[in-house]
Amino acid sequence: MIVVHSPHHLLHNPPKEFISNHLEAYGESPERAEIILEALMDHPEVELTRAEQFDLVHFHKVHGADYLIYLQTAFDEWVTAGLWSEGIMPEFFALGHLRNRPPAKSPEGKAGYYMTDSCTMIVKGTWEAVKYSGFTALTGAKCLLNGKSVVYSICRPPGHHAGFDYAGGYCFVNNAALAAKYLQDQGRPEADGDLKVGILDIDFHHGNGTQDIIHKLKNMLLVSIHGDPDYSYPYLTGFESENTDKNVNFALPPGINDEAYFETFQKAVNILNAFGCCYLVISLGVDTFEHDQLGNFKLTSAIYRKLAQYLINELPIPTLILMEGGYNIDFLAGNVMAFLKPYIQKEAIN
Ligand SMILES: [Zn+2]
Repeated sequence: MIVVHSPHHLLHNPPKEFISNHLEAYGESPERAEIILEALMDHPEVELTRAEQFDLVHFHKVHGADYLIYLQTAFDEWVTAGLWSEGIMPEFFALGHLRNRPPAKSPEGKAGYYMTDSCTMIVKGTWEAVKYSGFTALTGAKCLLNGKSVVYSICRPPGHHAGFDYAGGYCFVNNAALAAKYLQDQGRPEADGDLKVGILDIDFHHGNGTQDIIHKLKNMLLVSIHGDPDYSYPYLTGFESENTDKNVNFALPPGINDEAYFETFQKAVNILNAFGCCYLVISLGVDTFEHDQLGNFKLTSAIYRKLAQYLINELPIPTLILMEGGYNIDFLAGNVMAFLKPYIQKEAIN
């Protein structure tokens, strides 16, 4: 099984985030990707490969041009203006109708325009890391187009909270939308139009950014299982009332266990099957785990293997697995490996 990674993620190492009304160490740490990579190195069946470079034209298909320029120039502008040299954390937010105005001109104004929360920070190396996180997803997609049946891309920073023109929830570029659009554009076109790509988001948090972007794209379906936004980030999106022919949300209550989650998971896979997609992109978050500090589900490590096995049996199409969340460092690699093992074993047999 091919696993794509990039050392560039180490360049994104924000010192702090503002969460629960105080500053604390940034939860989306470089250690996350490193311990997953280390765990994978122990498996001889895994072929580790570095992310290739791609033209940024692919990023422009899922993000606004002004937003991408902001990500590339924000830190230098911020520091040149004499602001906090450790990183960019917004001090105001462009709410409601303010989003429909032209972007602000000052570094502080731009931060509040393009960033949606104070738990996401831009530092000096953020753009390089974000760009290579996107390249990691695109390299995985390219491997599928070259005939691989499954690829895991250790994307860091994660991507599913990044919308068309905003960053949030530790995310800057939406790796799932980027890869899905690339698969659609570069894959074999269907006679009746764009190739169908399904996205299954199983991070604990609603993939609000993916939902935002997918509504601008054709022939894609996002199915997301996540914590009820009445209790969990991103708080205002992810409700089942938002369901359309492009996205299906399953918002689950706090404390849900393996059995109840699996029932919902089966429904989600059935919906993707009925959609008839040629490729599947999975936004994999293991912050659904019972001891994750950012989630409120009660899933055990055993469920991850069961989910992957179900997908292998019921939706046997080329599958790209992208890393999203998972913040309990003691269990993160173990839970990711539990999900990957059925795929690794299947690939080893083939
Ligand atoms: Zn999450």
